[in-house]
Amino acid sequence: MKKLILLLVLLTLALLFFALGGHEWLTLEALKRHQAEFAALRGQAPWLTAAGFFLLYVLVAALSLPGAAIMTLAAGALFGLWQGLVLVSFASSLGATLAMLVARFLLRDQVQQRFGDRLKAVNDGIARDGAFYLFTLRLVPVFPFFLINLLMGLTPFPARRFYWVSQLGMLPGTLVYVNAGTQLAALDSLGGILSPALWLSFALLGIFPLLARSLVRLMQRRRVYQGWQKPRHFDCNLVVIGAGAAGLVSAYIAATVRARVTLIEAGKMGGDCLNTGCVPSKALIRSARLAHQMRHADRYGLCATQPEFSFKRVMARVQEVIQKVAPHDSVERYTALGVEVLQGHGRLLDPWTVEVDLNDGGRRRLTARSVIIAAGAEPLVPELPGLEEVGYLTSDTLWQALAERDSPPRRLLVLGGGPIGCELAQALARLGSEVTLVQRNPRLMPKEDQEVSDLVKESLTRDGIAVLTGHQPLRLEQDDRGKQLVVRHHDREVALEFDDLLVALGRRPRLTGYGLEQLGIDTEQRLETNDYLETLYPNIYAAGDVAGGYQFTHTAAHMAWYASVNALFGQFKRFKVDYSVIPWCTFVDPEVARVGLSEAEARDRGIACEVTRFGLDDLDRAIADGADHGFIKVLTVPGKDRILGVTIVGEHAGELLAEYVLAMRHHLGLNKLLATIHIYPTLSEANKYAAGEWKKAHAPQRLLAWLARYHGWRRGGKQPQGPL
Ligand SMILES: Cc1cc2nc3c(=O)[nH]c(=O)nc-3n(C[C@H](O)[C@H](O)[C@H](O)COP(=O)(O)OP(=O)(O)OC[C@H]3O[C@@H](n4cnc5c(N)ncnc54)[C@H](O)[C@@H]3O)c2cc1C
Repeated sequence: MKKLILLLVLLTLALLFFALGGHEWLTLEALKRHQAEFAALRGQAPWLTAAGFFLLYVLVAALSLPGAAIMTLAAGALFGLWQGLVLVSFASSLGATLAMLVARFLLRDQVQQRFGDRLKAVNDGIARDGAFYLFTLRLVPVFPFFLINLLMGLTPFPARRFYWVSQLGMLPGTLVYVNAGTQLAALDSLGGILSPALWLSFALLGIFPLLARSLVRLMQRRRVYQGWQKPRHFDCNLVVIGAGAAGLVSAYIAATVRARVTLIEAGKMGGDCLNTGCVPSKALIRSARLAHQMRHADRYGLCATQPEFSFKRVMARVQEVIQKVAPHDSVERYTALGVEVLQGHGRLLDPWTVEVDLNDGGRRRLTARSVIIAAGAEPLVPELPGLEEVGYLTSDTLWQALAERDSPPRRLLVLGGGPIGCELAQALARLGSEVTLVQRNPRLMPKEDQEVSDLVKESLTRDGIAVLTGHQPLRLEQDDRGKQLVVRHHDREVALEFDDLLVALGRRPRLTGYGLEQLGIDTEQRLETNDYLETLYPNIYAAGDVAGGYQFTHTAAHMAWYASVNALFGQFKRFKVDYSVIPWCTFVDPEVARVGLSEAEARDRGIACEVTRFGLDDLDRAIADGADHGFIKVLTVPGKDRILGVTIVGEHAGELLAEYVLAMRHHLGLNKLLATIHIYPTLSEANKYAAGEWKKAHAPQRLLAWLARYHGWRRGGKQPQGPL
């Protein structure tokens, strides 16, 4: 309502301006005709004339009316160069700021909401370099000022900064025009004010801040290297520290483009994913799932049976799986690809030199033009009193610690209800552990929507896990009864007994012990990088878990492409890492897979969206497989066929999601998905049905009513009388 009133007031003022012939007054001819009258007025009441002129100027600029240039000339003619300059400089800046604020009030929210995430890059750019852009645009009078006011109003650029940058930027142009106004009698046209030489000067002035900024950046880049002696020759083009997903892919790309690359790994080739992360956890989950299916075989018409197995054998299979995958990441494979692999601990001595303490003794020192840090992350261990005394497992130590046991932990306490905690808790529960899962947050997997957390909790509870959400761990104790974790819940302390404790509270980037501190690189949270994955030193890049953000194997590999290509070819072209379509999956049963926004994220970020759901209980193949639970939830831009995000909860959700990832990555909408043939009966048909639900909700109801009439007429002219 307020917006409507303001719009009406503005329209009325603009109409009045034209109705009263304001536009006829603001021409060069009219100015010349009335110059003597204006001068007389000023002679009688100089301050009043100046104040009236100032107010009129502000109004013309604020309402984006034509005539500001003429008024600037008038200022020169009436008040002389300096007084005219002061009046116009302040009035034009004030008017422009008001115009910007009006545009902001009327339009910004709608525009930001409508374009949502697509404006993120613009908003980020404005936050970072907005003053530069504005200054440049103001300096070069070729850009219509009212358009600049309007466009800046749609961005989050602060109003105060807008005012002073505008005033500074417009000053040279204002000076030229006010000065021309002092010679009004000699002026034939507005075009005559700006000679080609003056235009060129303005253009150069406009480019100047951009050049200056590039220069400042170049100097900043150089400054970090002060005090370091850059080698004149390098042993290799690239040194990569860490041979997990990020390091392996970086080295692979470098070798493929024939760069000389050295890959350094202190532990096992393949890093976390192969040795202690994705691969062993998925192998364990497979055995656990089979045990679960045997227990519930009656659901498939077979006799339910209690699986008999040796836990040691299950853990041995986990190692066999690792061994089977290991050749993909092995020293032999990478050496054959042309990578020099050094097994040892790498440490940066300066921005170009890495020293390696080789595992089999000895030391190597290498220089490289660029370095990629791919050192990964390690389990986050909280500072809980008693933790070290009682002892604990993490995803790093679990595989070795349980490998020799004949049976799984009898009473397992899992601390942490994120993806790793939930996956391992369910797997070990299905293999016979009595599991208690403690989560401080009120719900499991809090990055997902509430309904997803609820479904996961339901599923874990069905597997016999005691899920304690909203429980704050306080301390660990050990007495005759055994080990206990004391937690607080609703102001009450509860002691939870256990035999083994698994700490699964997330993973912290590995930042210390290899020279970052000595180079002055911040080692507090994660390895900070810019959009090109450069660290503080532009020749040192970071990729994978060490740089935080999305801690997945596929994102580590994705980042590795950007880091290695920028490291090797950045002098020609640098690529900004693209995090726009990142999928992930948590392999609990039922799986939870997501790409793009969740409903809660869209709500929190004020992004309007339409939600379409399809329940898997309606899918033929899911029913046949006894997997008829879960859903697909698709978020789209209201009224548009553009996917914002998808969440799938169900069997093989991680596989099903791939189609949506492709669609989002290549800007395909649900219509395209609907027009694609899916094999019957498969789980992937669910994707098509979800698209069908969206289509149904957008069916052209009026057209369908007309079609019903048409068919009625074709049947003999009768109108439809209700359902057949
Ligand atoms: C239990 C668990 C399950 C997971 N499941 C999945 C999953 O299903 N899907 C998924 O996408 N992700 C999963 N992840 C996450 C995934 O494992 C990681 O995101 C991925 O391994 C990150 O790769 P990276 O290359 O960044 O780091 P890492 O794999 O950790 O590799 C870093 C390597 O650097 C080495 N290193 C460190 N410092 C030095 C040094 N100074 N000198 C020499 N070498 C050094 C380390 O020894 C290590 O081998 C899981 C993680 C865990 C713990």
